Amino acid sequence: MIKAKSFAAYDTTSPLKSWDFERRDVGVDDVQIDIQFCGICHSDIHCARGEWMQMQYPQVVGHEIVGKVVATGKNVTKHKVGDLVGVGCLVDSCRKCGSCGEHLENYCEEGMQGGTYMGVEKQTGRPTQGGYSSTIVVDEHFVLKIPANLDPARAAPLLCAGITLYSPLRHWGAAPGKTVGIVGLGGLGHMGVKLAHAMGAKVVLFTTSPGKIADGKKLGADDVVISKDEKDMARYTGKIDFIVNTVSAPHDLNPFLQLLKRDGTLVLVGAPPAETPHPSPAVFNLLMKRTAIAGSAIGGIKETQEMLDFCGKHNIMPEIEMTSMQDVNKAWERVLKSDIKYRFVIDMATL
Ligand code: NAP
Ligand code: ZN
Ligand code: ZN
Repeated sequence: MIKAKSFAAYDTTSPLKSWDFERRDVGVDDVQIDIQFCGICHSDIHCARGEWMQMQYPQVVGHEIVGKVVATGKNVTKHKVGDLVGVGCLVDSCRKCGSCGEHLENYCEEGMQGGTYMGVEKQTGRPTQGGYSSTIVVDEHFVLKIPANLDPARAAPLLCAGITLYSPLRHWGAAPGKTVGIVGLGGLGHMGVKLAHAMGAKVVLFTTSPGKIADGKKLGADDVVISKDEKDMARYTGKIDFIVNTVSAPHDLNPFLQLLKRDGTLVLVGAPPAETPHPSPAVFNLLMKRTAIAGSAIGGIKETQEMLDFCGKHNIMPEIEMTSMQDVNKAWERVLKSDIKYRFVIDMATL
């Protein structure tokens, strides 16, 4: 076994605390990565606090991982010692079902057993443990290559925030001639603005924070709407092809449905706590324009590599604030207050 250090959740309410644990030995298909940086995703907080489902403790969260390969198993061909690599929300999947066969491991029909945390490690039967840790062992298939021109710390949030927006933007066709709405300028939302802009769409940002208007435009939004202002919202009634909603809290979806064109889609990626879902929207807001509400979860491994290469080619990087492992609990409090521009990244050298 390999010794690992981490900061872990011990229950749904206490601050994260130091925890020493063991990773599995490097198997024939595995890569061992010494973690340099890990982004803080709002999902880390939802999960540690048991807001989506019950979990086992101690639990190490973190699924925006960048680091250096330090060991490889004998069958590994994709990566070598010294490579700069990334790991996102998946470290495994069944690899047999239809979705896995179509490179959609994120929709594996056996469920999310292969989650980087909150999953079950096939090799040991133990809970998987995430990236707020010194080192990780991952099957090479789930390890991504980080383009050389991307700053390693800034690349980390691409592994979740980046792919979670890239995938729906591609699926629903962000491109020149399309008007795309992004709701919420947080970690996910700011990547949505940057990526949709790079794909050539007209980007309209919807925010509750008037203080983010200037940033929104700098990041690539063609227009910014204050979503709590009915008059401002009315400027886009029936004008948007699809909207990606990244908001982490429950809220009224009706005002956004009214902005869609006929056959438009409101794509939910923000995932409020299970006990406090979004209130069900009015049926007439759907049937009068044949609009749809859809969801999207991260992306498959092939598409995640495509996203990283796209970001490398267009030099797209998240806006980050570095923090230390010791300050992680303070960072979480700031994420909960939307007081971060726009993603925290933990410098794992501080662990
Ligand atoms: P974040 O950085 O906290 O951003 C969320 C943003 O939502 C905030 O910046 C704020 O934007 C807006 N917001 C927050 N509370 C609000 C409220 N009460 N009413 C209206 N707007 C509010 O979080 P994140 O890391 O981007 O994650 C966002 C959500 O996506 C979380 O629920 C997370 O778990 C989920 N997620 C889903 C996937 C997936 O695969 N589907 C992947 C990763 C994360 P403004 O200030 O601009 O209004
Ligand atoms: Zn995430
Ligand atoms: Zn599968």
